Amino acid sequence: MLSAEIIAIGSELLTPRFTDTNSVYLTEQLNAVGIPVMMKTIVGDQETYLEQAVRGSLERTPILITIGGLGPTEDDITRKVVARVLERQLILNDEILARIQQRFKARGVEMPANNARQALVLTGSEILENKNGTAPGLWIAGDRNQVILLPGPPSELKPMFENSCVPRLHEMAGGVAIARCVFRTACLPESTLDARIAPIYSKYKNPETTLLAKPGQVDVRLTARGKNREEAERLLRELGEEIERELAEYIFARSEQSLEEVVGLYLMMKNATISVAESCTGGMLAQRLTSVPGSSRYFMSGVVCYSNESKMELAGIPPLLIEMQGAVSEEVARGLAEGIRARSGTTIGVGVTGIAGPGGGSAEKPVGTIHIAVASPAETQHRQFFFPGDREKIRWQTSQTALDMVRRELI
Ligand code: AMP
Ligand code: MG
Repeated sequence: MLSAEIIAIGSELLTPRFTDTNSVYLTEQLNAVGIPVMMKTIVGDQETYLEQAVRGSLERTPILITIGGLGPTEDDITRKVVARVLERQLILNDEILARIQQRFKARGVEMPANNARQALVLTGSEILENKNGTAPGLWIAGDRNQVILLPGPPSELKPMFENSCVPRLHEMAGGVAIARCVFRTACLPESTLDARIAPIYSKYKNPETTLLAKPGQVDVRLTARGKNREEAERLLRELGEEIERELAEYIFARSEQSLEEVVGLYLMMKNATISVAESCTGGMLAQRLTSVPGSSRYFMSGVVCYSNESKMELAGIPPLLIEMQGAVSEEVARGLAEGIRARSGTTIGVGVTGIAGPGGGSAEKPVGTIHIAVASPAETQHRQFFFPGDREKIRWQTSQTALDMVRRELI
């Protein structure tokens, strides 16, 4: 099967300020015509590194697309390096030179001598017209490899790729289009989830179904292939709808959104606010909720009440309650949720208490015992869990489950 590699070139892409957005765009376009991307590399404007990257790619992958480094300056090295690796000459193309001169003339300025470099092409290459800039792209078709050189500015790369490359790549890939979708689920173990949907998806070879499990979350990914985009999307919908019916409210997102983002969206939609009182998660729940940009609109406060004293002080738990029920109990979880909700004046209050381990467990309350309560205007929901795994896993799973309980409260 046809596959591609992308090399993004430019020292600025290796600094924290720049992101290689072009390769994300190219991956999307390539996938849509059925060509997967096997590897992406970012290299600075240094010949030796670029040369190694190009050589490596040519040995592995039939299609190589490079981004950038086609400018007029000394540090634009892509043409030179690719010519060296492919053992081709660089020759001045008069037609391109005339076009570049014309562009400058139209703006009323003399072409700087440097820009003549952009008219250098590899022998035997095809020229990809650049309607929005000076540097044309190049396509070098070989027996084993297709090498495509594209300019860096997105405004030049995108129209060039869509006009001059996509139709040809689509044909090369046998006219296959790919459509993908994802269902993100929370708090359903992978084996349980698979038992429920395997009878559905195993009826289909196309779309292909893959499961990706993380603690407290399983992503169900469908990939459909069709003669064109419409067909691929139709196949995707057919299976997608069946899976959606089966998993129903376990699905929290139909895109790459995180659970905290989805909870944030629901809170905003309902004009609701939230506060949290956490013991065993130590602020993880507040951290996750506030990691979402714009969360100040719904997140009011979070307290970490680790000691018994702080549970009384920060969430108003009666001393006697902890003495009678223990800090890890349904009553204390409810008290934390209701206490923080009342003190912060929020729509929702969440209380979490439990034993994350590795110490502190007992026969009655083993490591992994967790109580979560969600207080809302109507009622306070409580659930008890026994989570497996180490301390970090238990803490994460607790925050995940608490977020999911809030999500379910809001739908
Ligand atoms: P170049 O073709 O290397 O002269 O790149 C020109 C400009 O295009 C750079 O200064 C960046 O602003 C932009 N650019 C280059 N490569 C990328 C990339 N991979 N993703 C997004 N922008 C890019
Ligand atoms: Mg550059």
